[in-house]
Amino acid sequence: MKEFKHFINGEYVASASGKTFENRCPVDNSLIGMVHEAGQAEVDAAVRAAKAALKGPWGKMTQTQRTALLNKVADRINERFEEFLEAECRDTGKPRSIASHIDIPRGAANFKAFSETLANHPTEGFRMDTPDGKGALNVGHRTPKGVIAVISPWNLPLLLMTWKVGPALACGNTVVVKPSEETPATTTLLGEVMNECGVPEGVFNVVHGFGPDSAGEFLTTHPLVDAITFTGETRTGEAIMKAAAVGLRNISLECGGKNPGIVFADCDIEKAVEGTMRSAFVNCGQVCLGTERVYVERPIFEKFLSRMKEEVAKLKLGRPEDPEANFGPLVSLEHREKVKYYYDLAREEGATVEIGGGIPDMGAELNDGAWIEPTIWTGLSDDARVIREEIFGPCCHIRPFDTEDEVIELANDTNYGLAAAIWTENSARAVRVAEQMEAGLVWVNSWFLRDLRTAFGGAKQSGIGREGGVHGLEFYTETKNICIKL
Ligand code: NAD
Repeated sequence: MKEFKHFINGEYVASASGKTFENRCPVDNSLIGMVHEAGQAEVDAAVRAAKAALKGPWGKMTQTQRTALLNKVADRINERFEEFLEAECRDTGKPRSIASHIDIPRGAANFKAFSETLANHPTEGFRMDTPDGKGALNVGHRTPKGVIAVISPWNLPLLLMTWKVGPALACGNTVVVKPSEETPATTTLLGEVMNECGVPEGVFNVVHGFGPDSAGEFLTTHPLVDAITFTGETRTGEAIMKAAAVGLRNISLECGGKNPGIVFADCDIEKAVEGTMRSAFVNCGQVCLGTERVYVERPIFEKFLSRMKEEVAKLKLGRPEDPEANFGPLVSLEHREKVKYYYDLAREEGATVEIGGGIPDMGAELNDGAWIEPTIWTGLSDDARVIREEIFGPCCHIRPFDTEDEVIELANDTNYGLAAAIWTENSARAVRVAEQMEAGLVWVNSWFLRDLRTAFGGAKQSGIGREGGVHGLEFYTETKNICIKL
């Protein structure tokens, strides 16, 4: 049985209180191990270690030295690929075929991409006139913000955590990470990699626990934390924003979504089916960018729906190590309760269940796991809760539309604003519609195609701020203007 300890100042430490909680595998609900729950004492030790490290060897390193070190971290994750993969699949239940393509390689790549992008970004310089005619030079100078608290979710544990830790460290900050209580393993393992690569102690710290009245709250309310970056639910984002208000700490929030997919009759229908299948069902529908509302232009509605049903019927549920399986369980029994609640609600709200809608019989060995059927509904009204609230499961509602104006209105009729996907072979229409989407990310004839140099983030209740490429610089650094009188 595994034991997941905190990683503080370069060492694994147990909770002084002795408090632990269970980590279970959603494939069959077997016990993976026990996780130490941080109290105020461990969080305080982690934050103080991070603060002290800013003044240690890390703070004195040049950008080139830091970049070299972070490249080494990426390489070492790839060398220990199998261990990271095993740990991620055990925590989340996701198929190895998916985690080996997305979670682990992209999780490692985050350390390379950001250090290189940020190192090559120029700062501003302005020469100004002065009354004595001699002038002055203004030079922008970026310094690390300090100690960054990183609060991450369970759906892509390594990838979404390094998405923040990568740029934070590239900019010279130190971090205290609080991974999701559901998925502690890969973040814990990363501590070993940091030590192996020679990252100075206190630069990367990990504390385990829950949100309210636990590690999450203790970390976000700690006065020595300089900024907080968070990925998770909108409601949690609100709580974190309140915590950050004390002491005026900066925040970056990447929150929930209820993303539309728009399928025009002039699309390449096979491309649209393939992309919508991925956007609704990959990772068992647990992707913030996923499509839960699909709008299809009426002439191709029936054909699109029947092709989607055919493809859903082909999804193969199975254990992570099953090479045929492309569909795993939800992350936990608790999350399955939430998703199942919406499956039942959809029926109550008058949906036609086109396929799925229940809990599959997986056989004696797996029936204790968090399995759920991939599901498609039609026939719900636009104000149904199933259409308005984020479910975060393998499901979507498909509805016909008649005009471009109508579908733009429908797509934007949500409190969220994270992502949208548009399927059409008419490029003028694609641009026209994309420009009108109230969302931070719009894909045309693709989905989840990510260039790490581009901005990432949500509009409306999907978040605050942009990370990715140079956009993260504003959050992860403090810009100082140095004015030199000539
Ligand atoms: P969550 O909000 O329940 O938890 C996220 C993290 O916040 C966990 O580590 C949790 O322990 C912590 N937390 C909870 N309450 C807290 C509090 N009061 N103070 C401090 N920390 C607290 O989210 P989740 O269920 O882990 O993840 C799913 C959600 O994440 C979905 O809404 C999804 O859309 C969103 N998400 C968004 C993005 C994005 O980039 N926009 C990416 C992935 C997931």
